[in-house]
This record gives sequence, C-alpha cells and structure tokens, in this order.
Amino acid sequence: MSSLRLSLISSVLFFLSLTDCSPLAGDRLAEADWNALNSTLGGKLLTGTPIAKPCFSNYKGVPGAKDATSCTAVQAGYNSPFYEKKNPGGYMWVNYGGCMAKAQHCNLDFASPRTAVAPDAICHQGSVPDFFVPVTGPKDVQDAVKFASANKLRVVVKNSGHDHKGRSAQPGALAIWMDPYQPPLKLEKAFVPEGCKTPVGDGITMGSGQQFNTLYQFAAINKYSVVGGSSNTVKAGGGWLNGGGHSTYSNNLGLGVDNALQIKAVMPNGTYVTANRCQNSEIFFGLRGGGGGAFGVIVEVTQLAHPVRASLSASLTAVGKDAESWRKILQIITDNSEQWAADGWGGVMAAPAMRTIVFGFANVKMGTNLTQARASMKAAQDLANSDLVMRPGSFFSVGLGSTQGSTATPGEGGGGQGLGVAMSTRLIPNTLFFDADKRQKMGDILFNITENFNSKPVTDPMHNFIANSGQLTVEMLMTTPYTYKPSKDPNDQTSVSPAWRISPWHVVLKWGFKGDAPPNVVENAYRQVHESMDMMRAITPDGGSYNNEADVYEVEGGKTFWGKDNYNRLMKLKKEIDPDNLFTCWGCIGWNPDDERFGCYPDYGYKEKVAAGYPAVL
Ligand SMILES: Cc1cc2nc3c(=O)[nH]c(=O)nc-3n(C[C@H](O)[C@H](O)[C@H](O)COP(=O)(O)OP(=O)(O)OC[C@H]3O[C@@H](n4cnc5c(N)ncnc54)[C@H](O)[C@@H]3O)c2cc1C
Repeated sequence: MSSLRLSLISSVLFFLSLTDCSPLAGDRLAEADWNALNSTLGGKLLTGTPIAKPCFSNYKGVPGAKDATSCTAVQAGYNSPFYEKKNPGGYMWVNYGGCMAKAQHCNLDFASPRTAVAPDAICHQGSVPDFFVPVTGPKDVQDAVKFASANKLRVVVKNSGHDHKGRSAQPGALAIWMDPYQPPLKLEKAFVPEGCKTPVGDGITMGSGQQFNTLYQFAAINKYSVVGGSSNTVKAGGGWLNGGGHSTYSNNLGLGVDNALQIKAVMPNGTYVTANRCQNSEIFFGLRGGGGGAFGVIVEVTQLAHPVRASLSASLTAVGKDAESWRKILQIITDNSEQWAADGWGGVMAAPAMRTIVFGFANVKMGTNLTQARASMKAAQDLANSDLVMRPGSFFSVGLGSTQGSTATPGEGGGGQGLGVAMSTRLIPNTLFFDADKRQKMGDILFNITENFNSKPVTDPMHNFIANSGQLTVEMLMTTPYTYKPSKDPNDQTSVSPAWRISPWHVVLKWGFKGDAPPNVVENAYRQVHESMDMMRAITPDGGSYNNEADVYEVEGGKTFWGKDNYNRLMKLKKEIDPDNLFTCWGCIGWNPDDERFGCYPDYGYKEKVAAGYPAVL
C-alpha cells in the first residue's frame, strides 16, 4: 500500500467519530485489518471522499489546505456524468452523496461549479462510503464480500452512481465499485447458457461496469441492437438490469430483465454462481428485478443481441396556445396512448416545458409500412395540424429508421449531473385507458401537475434554470413491455411487477434542486413529487412503480415494485441467501427502515403519516 493511501486510511480511521451520519459498522477495525484487505486486493483499496473535497479548506470539521490543481479538474468535470462515474466518491444526484437528514454535503454550485466555495464551508463525508474496492474481476468482489461479512461491516455496491434513490451510497460503508470492471465485450452467436443444451439466441457478454454508450457502439458495429436505457453512462449490467431496465424498444423486445440470458454473481456468502434458466434459476429470478443489489453482486451478464431490423419513427412537438388548449392536448394524448402502445410504438414522451409535449417513438412491429404508421398516428398528426398548437414550433413527422445504434438521450436526459433530485413514478395500467371517465381524470391530473411544475419558472430564476436543465419534468414514458410476451418457462421468470406488462405508461415526475439547497427547498421537492403522484395513485389501484426510479416514499412498495406474489417469493429467497441482510438498501427487499444505514434519508413527516394510517413504504 502506498504511504499516501496509508495516511488517507489513517485519517479516515482517526475521524470515524466525526462521521456525519450514523456510526460506522467498521469502527472497531484496526488499521492492520484494512491493510490486510488492501494486501489481499493487491494494493488497490481506495479511500472514499466526496468528489468536490479538493475545493474545500475544511474536511469533516478539520481545517486543511485546498488542492487547487485537483479542484480545477473537479470544477471542469462537475456537470459531466462521465467524469462523475470515473470517481468513486461521485454521485450523479448529489443529494444522495450528502446526508440530507443532517443538511450536510460537500457540493459545488451546479449552475457555476467554478465559483469558489466559501472559505468556512465544510466538506462533509455525507453518504459517501469510506472505502472503495475497484473491481477488476470476480475475486475482488468475493474478497470484499467475505471481508465485510467476517467483520460485520456495512457494504454497498456502487457502479455508475446514477441511482435515483441513492442506493449506491451508504454512510460508513465499504463500497464494491463495479465501474472499473469492463472486460472486452464478447459476441456469441447461438449462445448456450452454461448447463443448458440448446441455444437461446445470440448473446453479448459484458462485465457489470459496462456502460450503455460503448455497448451500443459494439452492438452497432456487429449489426446488432440491444435493449438498453436512455443514458449513455448508466451501467448495462448493474442496477438498470437488476431493477428491470426499460428501453425505447421494450414495448416489442421486452425489459432488460427479459433479455438477460445469463448472469454471474457473487452471493452474500461469497460464492460465485452462474444463474440462468438451467441452473440457479431462483437466483436468476431474484437478480432480474429484485433490485438494488439485494441479491448479490452481478459481475457478468449475457444479454440477448437482436439482429438490426427496420423500424419506423414518429416525432411530435406540440406547444399549447393557452391553458385551455393545453388541457385538450393532454386529453388527446391520454385518449390515444393505449392504442399507440398496442400498435407497438415505444419511446420517450414528456412535458419538459411550459405547455409543451414532445415524443420520439420507434416501432419495430410494423416493418417499413409507412401507411400503417401514419394511420396509427393519425391523432398525433391531427393534433399538430389543429388550432390547439402554436405555429411555428409544433410539428409531427413519421419516418423510416432502423434499430442500429443508441437509444440514449444526448446530454443524459437533460444534463442533471451535479443537481439533487426527487422523483416519483407510476406504472399506469390499461384499465385506466379503457375507461373514459378515468381517462378524463388523468387528463385533468396531468393538466394540474404540469401547470404546477412549469408555471414556477416565471417567478423563480433558479427554478427556471433547473427546468432548462431538464430536471423539472413530467414524463409519460412509453417504454413499458406492453406488447412483449415474456417467457412462460417456470425457470425463466423475472421478478419485476406484473404491472409493467399491462401498462402503456411509466409516468415520471422529477423535481431538481441545487446540491447546496437549504432543507426547506429539498423538502418541497420531495413533497411536490410525492403528493402530485398521490392523485395518480388514487385512480390506479392496480398500477405499480419501478423500484429503480421510484419515489423514496413510495407507498406499499412490496406490492407496487414487485406485485404481491413476486414480493413473497423474493422475501423467501432473500432469507435463504442473505439471512443477515448484508446487502440492504432503501426500499429494497428485506430492508428495515429503522436501520442506521439509512440515517441520511430525510423524513419530512412521512413516519407520522404512516403512523396515522398512510400505507408504509413496504
Ligand atoms: C440519466 C438517466 C437516465 C436513465 N434512463 C433509464 C432508462 O432509460 N431505463 C431505465 O430502466 N432506467 C433508467 N435510469 C435509471 C437507472 O436504471 C437507475 O439509475 C439504476 O439504478 C442505475 O444503475 P447503475 O448500476 O448504473 O447505478 P448505481 O447508482 O451505481 O447503482 C444503482 C443500484 O444498483 C446496485 N448495483 C449496481 N451495480 C450492481 C451490481 N453489479 N450488482 C448488484 N447490484 C448493483 C447498487 O447497489 C444500487 O442499489 C436512468 C437514470 C439516469 C440517471
């Protein structure tokens, strides 16, 4: 171990009593124990510090010198998710790297990261783990898991650090950092899962640290496409897959979990297992939807590779003339969405700005039949031609395309890197769309929510700035597997909520705030998304929610994230493979909300609401 690292570790140990959140599970460990782990790992154990630490002259209450050179690099990369994910202490949504419960953080100004921090500002450790194991192979994961288990340490898996619920951060933990594990991608035609006798399709095998941009490039070069997310830097074989994984192509080609042919993972007891339909199929079930790393650490994934095929595209931008027009536009969108989904359209639809709706859909079900595509999308064309919209500024088009290439949104879906965010989501089932009264209610709700979200910028410049960064949005994502037929093989089941398969919409409410925002602003963000979504919860009792992108205070999470049957099955599996709850995270299978590991999540009166009869998180 280098002396620099030794001194860093010493300083972490020395300041354990000053950690910002609940006390460390590992505080009884001697330096010699950490040295032993470091030696087992070949000297690569890293200390975890907040990404912006070099820009502060006080770390955890102890004055010290800034590191001007490193600070300049941090400032330059602060708004880049590529920079963030390359740093162990970096988190995309910086509220989760901090400790919201104590209003402590170590953040720069999102809008102006080059602005010097105040001389008396303290860089708090927040929820950034104290140590990181940069993984370069399964043995590193096994070593880390065994060390954490033997020493009863907190342990967490971090990959891109993009999680919307902060589940890859944990105060005082040892982090297993998967980002570095990106072995060369491997394409196998007619892939046969280990232990099986017959091929299950062409497959691309990747390490868990593989992010989407390079996976998309590899697939395209080889004339394949993959089901993947809208972010270049989210990990294809990490949290995205573990929780479900929706995509522009999911309507026709399924969720990420439907496309996983084989997963290799380190279990909480340290064993390295291969899971597929022919062996360890219950673990395969748990890893494909259980989410949050609660069922072990995914090391390698083989994903179905789809030969490139023709697709159709449809794009709409409709800017409402006034409030009444906007109300009608939302109703037209609501009234037609189920039919669009049933016809095979999928992609992103959002209301990102004042009285504006945009969508970009793909359809791989209709081949190259433009006539059929236009007929299917007639309502959108009529809308763009109507008196409801402003011109210029509104348009609709249908075109030809192919599935070759990326489904990622340029700029990471608006570029929120460095902001804090509160999110709430809901899978809206087709029962709502089949009922005219409920559709009407949904139109009204969308109107109320969008007017609330988008009218603020007029009076609040910072709110406006955040809105322009794409982090104040109402999205009706058509990325659900609505027409996809999942496997009926009992050994090839996924654990995501069945609501995914009957829902045309995955509604996302997102409310961004600056990383150094005061507690009342943060609280307002969580309240806004949660209470706005309550209106949709009330009219979709058979709906669900995506645990990767869920409200931190989602109600009845067991039912909404997995469905009752899957939840019970997952709980049984969890007790079998992780009886000590070594791997736990907020709202995950088997978690305990009172666990000190969650001491940095804000409460905002939620516990009182639960005590008063409001359905609890799980
Ligand atoms: C800009 C942006 C766009 C997005 N677009 C989409 C989208 O199109 N579709 C979609 O479905 N989701 C999307 N998401 C949400 C995404 O699925 C989640 O943020 C997901 O948790 C990210 O996983 P990660 O491993 O990259 O991130 P991390 O924050 O590192 O990890 C997230 C969770 O997964 C666990 N985890 C990570 N790696 C492993 C592993 N190897 N083994 C076990 N557990 C692991 C972590 O412990 C944590 O609980 C998007 C997110 C962002 C920020």
